[in-house]
Amino acid sequence: MVTRLYSHPIYLDHITPPGHPERPDRLRAITRVLEDEAFAYLDRVEAPEGDRETILYAHPEEFVRRVEAAVPDTGLARIDADTSVSPKSWQAALTAIGAANAAVDDVFTGAADNVFVAARPPGHHAERTTAMGFCLFNTAAIAARHAQKKHGAERVAIVDWDVHHGNGTQDIFWSDPSVLYCSTHQMPLFPGTGAWNETGAGNIVNAPLSPNSGSDLFRDAVLSRVLPAIDDFRPDLVIISAGFDAHHRDPLAEINLTEADFDWATGVLMDRASRYANGRLVSLLEGGYDLQGLAFSVAAHVKRLMKG
Ligand SMILES: [Zn+2]
Repeated sequence: MVTRLYSHPIYLDHITPPGHPERPDRLRAITRVLEDEAFAYLDRVEAPEGDRETILYAHPEEFVRRVEAAVPDTGLARIDADTSVSPKSWQAALTAIGAANAAVDDVFTGAADNVFVAARPPGHHAERTTAMGFCLFNTAAIAARHAQKKHGAERVAIVDWDVHHGNGTQDIFWSDPSVLYCSTHQMPLFPGTGAWNETGAGNIVNAPLSPNSGSDLFRDAVLSRVLPAIDDFRPDLVIISAGFDAHHRDPLAEINLTEADFDWATGVLMDRASRYANGRLVSLLEGGYDLQGLAFSVAAHVKRLMKG
């Protein structure tokens, strides 16, 4: 098994306001935990800068220009109450896209069996024409389209276990049956979408969880909703929107998962990827705001990816 890790120092230069949960220390905590010798065989690669044109796979040009124009020369500029940009945010977001697209290339060319992209800003709240929820561009959506356009993938499954609903990914693929979007998330919680009856063209599968659901109900949602949808869909590629804010230590939600749940969920998705997609699996960091919960969860996730 070759598990590749993409990261880049530019991801630390996307600065958010003081006290903001989506902060550079998140990536420092991940980098530190992955220095353990258990990860000696991780194939570490510096993320390439993305191709601006690929942003247009998921967002219109006018929106891309609007985000680009919002980036300040100094200090911070707010996009909305939660979402801001600093001078290097454009380059960070473009490099997050570059890493995700390169990860897709890797699993299709066989350069890697699976890939974890440790990047920020995250992406799953970014809708076609709205940057929100700490997200500028929808990296997972762009990567899914990249797989279709460059590698001829017919069906891409995006599984989103971030504790927040990926309204952006749902928005982008709402009427596109070539992409399956499955999400487990706490409800009620930001951004308010993700009810059972939001099904798009039959390609959207939402499994909302009540606060304090815990491991059993999470696993039950994966087993009863997510995996059967994947079995029906038979994807050529599995992309994980891997947020770790459903961890019990996380300050933004109350789902109370443990590292063992992320290990388990990684395993069952790898099993589906090997059944239908020749093992092709790309995992993209989304949320996760308690540094210890995030680091330990990423460690469990990446360890499972490496084990095969
Ligand atoms: Zn989240």
